[in-house]
Amino acid sequence: MAPGSPAKMVVIGAGLMGSALARAFAAAGHDVAVWNRTPGKAKAVGGGTTAFENLLEAVQGRELVVVSVSNYVASFELLSAKGVAAALAGKTLVQLTSGSPADARSGLEWAMANGVDYLDAAILAYPSFVATDYATVFYAGSRAVFDRHLETLRAIAKNSTYVDEKIGSAATLDCAILEAYYGGSLAFLHAAAMCKAEGLDPKAFFAQKNSFLGLLSVTADAAQGMIENNDFTGDQCSLNTHVAAIEHIVRLSKDARISARFPKELLDNYKRAVSAGLGTQELPAVFRTLTQD
Ligand code: NAP
Repeated sequence: MAPGSPAKMVVIGAGLMGSALARAFAAAGHDVAVWNRTPGKAKAVGGGTTAFENLLEAVQGRELVVVSVSNYVASFELLSAKGVAAALAGKTLVQLTSGSPADARSGLEWAMANGVDYLDAAILAYPSFVATDYATVFYAGSRAVFDRHLETLRAIAKNSTYVDEKIGSAATLDCAILEAYYGGSLAFLHAAAMCKAEGLDPKAFFAQKNSFLGLLSVTADAAQGMIENNDFTGDQCSLNTHVAAIEHIVRLSKDARISARFPKELLDNYKRAVSAGLGTQELPAVFRTLTQD
């Protein structure tokens, strides 16, 4: 494919995400075939895409194959269907199904065994973000293969970021960001529950969003430096003092008869670091106990 010319491609999977990806590629002028296990969903994608009922016919002659299904098992079952792997030989497969680094490694193994160029990707966006400035997609694998398709891939996310040649690196970064997202979200939802239980309108808490996000941002920067230097000493606030603060959160939750699971789990982790002799160090010292089982 000459740079800038429309790609002949196929999107396998027309769920919420696959449909948004297919429409974004088509809107950027690419020739997009769509296949989905439930054919009606492929037909419903529209936006100039072409729905196929037969997977082999959908992939034949397509130089770029994008997969977005529920999991890797489903994905590689589809790609191993009769004739499909052979049709993909010499083409590029971009795996946009979410998975673990181990999934990515088995994906690469499959691709190498079948003579297929492989990029393992992780999308950090809701379907409504696709093709907007809010969408980020991380890619791992061969830099040359990524560069070859970058212009096409930018149709789904301007922020299309190459992470590393290590095939599991996009999934690793995705898991890391998602852990911070889910953990942070659970924390603020529990915080809102505490406010409600104590008769304080959760609005008062959400109005302080920038206070806790700012604190998190400063702590993340400090943690990065401390982890790099393997030095967690400081003069701001000891882990002992943080543990006392978390004990207040557990106490509030119990007194107000709401779930104390989350603050107890926090307390457990922070106390473990104190028990390991890190009580006089700064908060990021917990990292030391997290790198052990
Ligand atoms: P979804 O709406 O539930 O769609 C799932 C898709 O997978 C459907 O096309 C479904 O086909 C297909 N599928 C599932 N099992 C299959 C099988 N055994 N054989 C063939 N096809 C199968 O999910 P989604 O939100 O589009 O998510 C797709 C991928 O994107 C997931 O890996 C997800 O983690 C990732 N992702 C999603 C979001 C998001 O916000 N939605 C964000 C980031 C990443 P049928 O229609 O026939 O059931």
